[in-house]
Amino acid sequence: MYDLVIIGGGPGGVAAGVYAGRKKIKTLLIADTIGGQSVVSANIQNWIGTESISGFELGKMLEEHLRNQGGIDIIDGDLVLDVEKTSSGFLLKTKNNKTFEAKYLLIASGSRRRKLGVPGEKEFDGKGVVYCSTCDAPLFKDKIVAVIGGGNAGFEAAVDLLPYASKIYILEFLSELKCDPVILEKVKNNPKVEVITDAETVEVLGNDFVSGLKYKNKKNGEVNELKLDGVFVEIGSVPNSDFVKGLVELNKMGEIVVDHKTQQTSCPGIWAAGDVSDVLYKQNNISVGDAVKAVLNIYEKLSKN
Ligand SMILES: Cc1cc2nc3c(=O)[nH]c(=O)nc-3n(C[C@H](O)[C@H](O)[C@H](O)COP(=O)(O)OP(=O)(O)OC[C@H]3O[C@@H](n4cnc5c(N)ncnc54)[C@H](O)[C@@H]3O)c2cc1C
Repeated sequence: MYDLVIIGGGPGGVAAGVYAGRKKIKTLLIADTIGGQSVVSANIQNWIGTESISGFELGKMLEEHLRNQGGIDIIDGDLVLDVEKTSSGFLLKTKNNKTFEAKYLLIASGSRRRKLGVPGEKEFDGKGVVYCSTCDAPLFKDKIVAVIGGGNAGFEAAVDLLPYASKIYILEFLSELKCDPVILEKVKNNPKVEVITDAETVEVLGNDFVSGLKYKNKKNGEVNELKLDGVFVEIGSVPNSDFVKGLVELNKMGEIVVDHKTQQTSCPGIWAAGDVSDVLYKQNNISVGDAVKAVLNIYEKLSKN
């Protein structure tokens, strides 16, 4: 029986692990992978104390800090699939058929990319369908691509693609673009870029590799086809909260609702921090701060028992 199980090995989970180790809380950290979402980023310039670092290097530093701190058990390469409330705390079940018991839980399981859910997306994943522009933009030199999503993420993907692609379509589902004016002006006026609003992507086309996509014009119902070499999907993210559905309160986006003073959830004994929570801004530094807040609150509770 652990006092605390931390679920997640991103910046939030790692920060919690380091603090729990220092506070000598009997802790297990379980993560699918250690490092977090931004490991794929080419350059992170707002990790406080570091002017510029690749996501990969940051992930490595986080893992080293966690392991060198010591004092807690760490399992990576496994996923928590289910959490049950018991009389003494919680029972966790993992993908590798392991079970663990904990008095308290801190969920720092972050989020994953939202998928289009249309025919062809899965078939051509990695064969022209791409979810990380920072990682894959250089592969599309002199190619025609579409970015799905006209928010900040979509326009940032277009910025990544501008030095490489010969033509960039930006397809937005709504009638208006939802990105900040600064980035909008920078991208929209570039002759390589064509923005299509009211566009609902209905199918990704291809044989061995992406060759195009079909989209419906939501105003007149017409289905149009674009010839393409790549499709960059930038339509937001989904919190990794499925395994506590029904146990803690989630908002309509599936984010875990927390008390922002302590990070406690609606279920006594469960805390949440970072991108999986209903925190307004999703950032590395914020996940770290919120996870630390949670561990300090957990420590306070344990000290009173
Ligand atoms: C391409 C990209 C670039 C970014 N660049 C920046 C940037 O420059 N600056 C910035 O501040 N932010 C950036 N972000 C956002 C930042 O990465 C996130 O805000 C941050 O990673 C959130 O940290 P987290 O610990 O809450 O969750 P995550 O980083 O998502 O970590 C979640 C962890 O939980 C694990 N996990 C998930 N589900 C389970 C489960 N069921 N069981 C066990 N483990 C599980 C995952 O393996 C992972 O270890 C970027 C994000 C992306 C995608």
